[in-house]
Amino acid sequence: MAELHCHIEGAADPGLVCMLARRYGIDLGDIVRDDFYVWHDFSSFLAAYDRASTVFRSEEDFAELATDHLTRLASAGTLYAEFFISPDHAKLSGVAPEAYAAGLATGIARAREATGIEARMIVVGVRHLGVEAVERAARFAAGPGRRDITGFGLAGDERIGAHADFRKAFDIARDAGLGLTIHAGEVCGAESVRAAIDAVAPHRIGHGVRAIEDAALIAEIARRGIVLEVCPGSNLALGLYPDIASHPLKRLVAAGVKVTLGADDPPFFRTSLAAEYRLAAEAGIDAPGRLAFTRTAIEAAFVDETTRRRLIDRLMLAALSLGAPGTSQ
Ligand SMILES: [Zn+2]
Repeated sequence: MAELHCHIEGAADPGLVCMLARRYGIDLGDIVRDDFYVWHDFSSFLAAYDRASTVFRSEEDFAELATDHLTRLASAGTLYAEFFISPDHAKLSGVAPEAYAAGLATGIARAREATGIEARMIVVGVRHLGVEAVERAARFAAGPGRRDITGFGLAGDERIGAHADFRKAFDIARDAGLGLTIHAGEVCGAESVRAAIDAVAPHRIGHGVRAIEDAALIAEIARRGIVLEVCPGSNLALGLYPDIASHPLKRLVAAGVKVTLGADDPPFFRTSLAAEYRLAAEAGIDAPGRLAFTRTAIEAAFVDETTRRRLIDRLMLAALSLGAPGTSQ
């Protein structure tokens, strides 16, 4: 497996969060129950997310977070993972962007050493914090000496601000050679995907599933080879679709769109990357189809070409050793 769409604070294991909360004497109230976070609508999800994030208060805490997340993925058979990092979020807990990114990079190095998993980070600007904040995030991502930061993206409330407002931020990131991805077509419809493509010409779209509502747009996404980071478990948890049978995953694949799978904010949505692959199987994607998701993720990864070739080789070896290509990869 390989994952391109996951927010690092959203991946924080409740066990780790509770342990840090005890260490710092933070009362989390009732946001954790039975090893999952408790929320009931989008507002309470965001509130639980923000409360859980506040337990990470030092560079070392963020190192632990990244190691824990990646070790968990590696033990489930993941070769490669990218995750979103938000310097604006870290600032809320009093951690400077440099210490935040350095801690997470240390966590990546530890997980790589222990398990062989490869990983990179994508800095995201938060659109509801405004254009200035997003441009600041882009400048941070583009700064010198950013270990393992290879991409820039835009997250936050899709309904706020026009995509075109963020053109400059994406230009800063593009000029620095970073890969570009943008959340669109999740809460908002196909028109938001069209606007995102026209405004910033991203390499990948976060979610993008609602592009399915516009046949011409889907044809264009397929023709241009723009990759969709699809997170079915997240879409179901947030009520975009009532069940996996209604989810457009299979139709996107049938239309020739390049698709990868991600867990978005796994313990918040009671999911994991492995669970996303199982959901894809339930949606009727066969083993070679699921293997293709992993291959697409590696082909679309924001990594240097040497690392990409090594990952493809590892994927092919893993598929061969399983006998049946794509059984769990
Ligand atoms: Zn996301």
